[in-house]
Amino acid sequence: PEAITIQELANRMSERAVDVIRMLMKQGAMHKITDVIDADTAQLIAEELGHTVKRVAASDVEEGLFDTVDDSTDTEPRSPVVTVMGHVDHGKTSLLDALRHANVVSGEAGGITQHIGAYQVSSPETGKKITFIDTPGHAAFTAMRARGAKVTDIVVLVVAADDGVMPQTVEAINHAKAARVPIIVAINKIDKPDAKPERVRTELLQHEVQVESFGGEVVDVEVSAKNKTNLDKLLEMIALQAEILDLKTNSHRPAEGTVIEAKLDRGRGPVATVLVQRGTLRVGDIIVAGAEMGRVRALISDQGETVQEAGPSVPVEVLGFNGPPEAGDRLAVVENEARARQITSYRAHQKRENAAASISGMRGSLEQMMS
Ligand code: GDP
Ligand code: MG
Repeated sequence: PEAITIQELANRMSERAVDVIRMLMKQGAMHKITDVIDADTAQLIAEELGHTVKRVAASDVEEGLFDTVDDSTDTEPRSPVVTVMGHVDHGKTSLLDALRHANVVSGEAGGITQHIGAYQVSSPETGKKITFIDTPGHAAFTAMRARGAKVTDIVVLVVAADDGVMPQTVEAINHAKAARVPIIVAINKIDKPDAKPERVRTELLQHEVQVESFGGEVVDVEVSAKNKTNLDKLLEMIALQAEILDLKTNSHRPAEGTVIEAKLDRGRGPVATVLVQRGTLRVGDIIVAGAEMGRVRALISDQGETVQEAGPSVPVEVLGFNGPPEAGDRLAVVENEARARQITSYRAHQKRENAAASISGMRGSLEQMMS
């Protein structure tokens, strides 16, 4: 359909929805975030905001794939999706592991939690779930953002108290800001004798991350992944931030999601970890992601259990792709295999053309350099 919700338009431009609404207001139209506007209006707004608009013919092929109309009457709360970022060796992996184990539901057959690249834990206070994405970090985050997939609601920025703000810390801050995702700072390694949490706060200030004790709005928590100190508090702060964000979506519709990681498994074939973002993904669904398609043969939860379906904010391993898609690819459910083939063959063609274009582009710039 030649229409788009204000939220989706804002997402695609990496602009705030309020700014889009303000722009529409200037033109005399009152809108709320879930409203749908036509393509012409959307183009006008995008250009006003300084974006170049490309209305691709692909819309013929991709039409309705990511149906942007989320009927606001049919939404319900969903769990927040959190990405942990920070400088190498500051304790991202340790923290994710500690959070995962601190929270293995007691009484369950001793934590055979298999690694699927994303998992859920329950907030100790409310019992509400939080989804953590265990990405290798910035590269995947950037790739997803470049593809217009917004996967993260909150960034937990890990800074080692004995090392302070480092280049990749700054990178992470910039990523979070560009994506307009709120940051919660986890000052890690607080157990170390040379830990200087106050210095971390000061250094963060220099990068325009102002924590509460400095009069800002960014929450910081002193933690030790090693000693499991303050992990509950960190979860609580995430839950609180999530509440403010008031995250809602519709689970009664065909699934949409994003591929977190994918591989070719010897025994199981192509396996993709997918974060479902809208709707419900079910066994038997016909799916497309990037230039790959398939039929969901099995879904496996972060607990390693076979499940029949996965709803919004739930990470799940998907078996049944014909080939492994790429991290950052968006997944959609389509009506039938013919449609899936049409979409993926079109995309495969596009991919080849782009590759060819970038090679000839390179040649062009080389020639320029030589002349
Ligand atoms: P990553 O590169 O950010 O994923 O960092 P890792 O989780 O691999 O941790 C890097 C090193 O710091 C490892 O040797 C960890 O054992 C250590 N480490 C992580 N968290 C803590 C902590 O809270 N206290 C102490 N003392 N060491 C930690
Ligand atoms: Mg790591």
